[in-house]
Amino acid sequence: MYLFMPTLVYSEENCVKNHFREIALTGKKAMIVTGKHSSRKNGSLNDVSTVLNQENIPYILFDDIEENPSVETVMKARNLAVSENVDFIIGIGGGSPLDAAKAIALMSANPKADEELLYQSNSLPYLPVICIPTTCGTGSEVTPYSILTLHKQKTKKSISHKIFPTLALLDTNYLKTASRNCIVNTSVDALSHLIESYLNTNSNALNRIYSTQGLQMWAEFKENLKNNTLSEKDYETMLHASMVAGIAITHTGTSLPHGLSYPVTYELGVPHGKAVGMFLGGYVENYKDKKDAGKVLELLEFSNAKELRSYLNQLLGKTELPAELLSADADSILVNKSKLKNYPFEVTKEELINMLN
Ligand code: NAP
Ligand code: ZN
Repeated sequence: MYLFMPTLVYSEENCVKNHFREIALTGKKAMIVTGKHSSRKNGSLNDVSTVLNQENIPYILFDDIEENPSVETVMKARNLAVSENVDFIIGIGGGSPLDAAKAIALMSANPKADEELLYQSNSLPYLPVICIPTTCGTGSEVTPYSILTLHKQKTKKSISHKIFPTLALLDTNYLKTASRNCIVNTSVDALSHLIESYLNTNSNALNRIYSTQGLQMWAEFKENLKNNTLSEKDYETMLHASMVAGIAITHTGTSLPHGLSYPVTYELGVPHGKAVGMFLGGYVENYKDKKDAGKVLELLEFSNAKELRSYLNQLLGKTELPAELLSADADSILVNKSKLKNYPFEVTKEELINMLN
């Protein structure tokens, strides 16, 4: 058993402005990596640029990260970062810009390498990364993972390198501009991380500290999330639950619902959290260790798995999947060794198909 969480995390109002020193000490020239619109709307981009200007740290802006970022976008940003002699990266946004920031940091520190490097497992240097999350789902600000879209393979895949951010700055105010769909989908992503971490081959008494705590936090806002009556306190708890869930999957990895979700997102464009959530109730209901599954439901304050399934259907809306896609998706899991090894039991194609809500 081990615990390892090297990212320095601060969470408070005005977090970016309050921690200008830590930002300024990270490097001499920054690349800000963000999406097209949201970081302008929620004030996070302005806060970061204000701090960099005030500290006389030059920076360039790459604001072209798409949802489910692609290898091609990462390479485009890397070429710019290298030509501009950038020595640290600041990711602002949801999981997409944060994941892209990590991959750009790796490729920029290995300027002569081509994109193949992303999927070669050897230990390589990377530039320091600061992460500022503006959704409450991925926990990417504390995980070492970076999931990219591989158009060549028509799916999404985690890169082979582990890139922990050096600093994560959390401010609930940035969440306030997010749409209801964005909040719902990303909260369900955090829930999936907690459940898949607890019900995982790699879970143990030590790392369950995180999943247990995160599941209890999730229970605190679950009714208000469903009823669209979220309070200030709920927003804070959601952001913290997402971060804690990130620490949980750092130790265990995710499991079958995440594996099943990637083709659904790639083929149908279903947002990540929603695509994972479609398989989550079924994952718990079919989980063969009934004691552990029961514990998860108890922590979430559901009386049984059916109640969780119907809660998720109400929250996410029911999505029908074409039978061929579902069948190919299940087949792809049966040959996906990294996801299968995180599931402690044998699993059949039929069982995988039955996980769909
Ligand atoms: P996202 O793809 O980063 O963003 C989704 C949408 O929400 C974008 O249109 C974005 O706009 C908008 N948005 C973000 N923050 C907003 C805010 N505060 N207000 C208004 N709009 C906002 O969504 P995500 O669900 O957070 O990230 C999903 C990605 O993370 C997937 O690629 C997934 O595979 C990955 N992921 C990574 C990990 C990990 O451990 N690294 C774990 C789970 C998932 P803009 O484009 O304008 O910014
Ligand atoms: Zn996820």
